[in-house]
Amino acid sequence: MSEERLDALGHLYTQIVGLIGGDEAIEVAEALIQLKKASEEQIATKTGLRVGDVRKILFKLYEKALITYEEIKKEEGDKIKSIFLWLPLIDQAESIAANYRRVILQKLKEKLDFVEKNELYHCGKEGHRILTFDEAVENLFKCPVCGDPLQRMDKEDYIRRLKTLIKTIEDEEKE
Ligand SMILES: [Zn+2]
Repeated sequence: MSEERLDALGHLYTQIVGLIGGDEAIEVAEALIQLKKASEEQIATKTGLRVGDVRKILFKLYEKALITYEEIKKEEGDKIKSIFLWLPLIDQAESIAANYRRVILQKLKEKLDFVEKNELYHCGKEGHRILTFDEAVENLFKCPVCGDPLQRMDKEDYIRRLKTLIKTIEDEEKE
């Protein structure tokens, strides 16, 4: 697979993961894409999320068939320990997108509605959480992921992108 196509699929994949699993799931997906194969602990280290939270997200993604795993048995003294390595199913991004088209469309429309009705705050980094005013106050106007100061988001561009994405998916559905 070409680098460019893999990039595009990777992007589509993280978008789907984000819509289905939320913002923290995007970080897990990005870590999986970079590491290719990783244990809960490795993902936790990479993302800064707690292992327990990583596990919850992994189960959610697994349930939705967005990731898979390999079980490795390791001898530890007289016990055999199972280690689970998780893998992202990037090359299936397109078929996953097709399966979830209706859900994705619904979520995108809800998101568009939410964005249009709220003042939003963001640190400017792709994939990091977008917060409402109340959430921004709670976090003292610092990004909960990287700690950078939160800026009031210019929503125009974001709304345009959401509308384009919604239209693209709706057009695909008609075909
Ligand atoms: Zn940030």
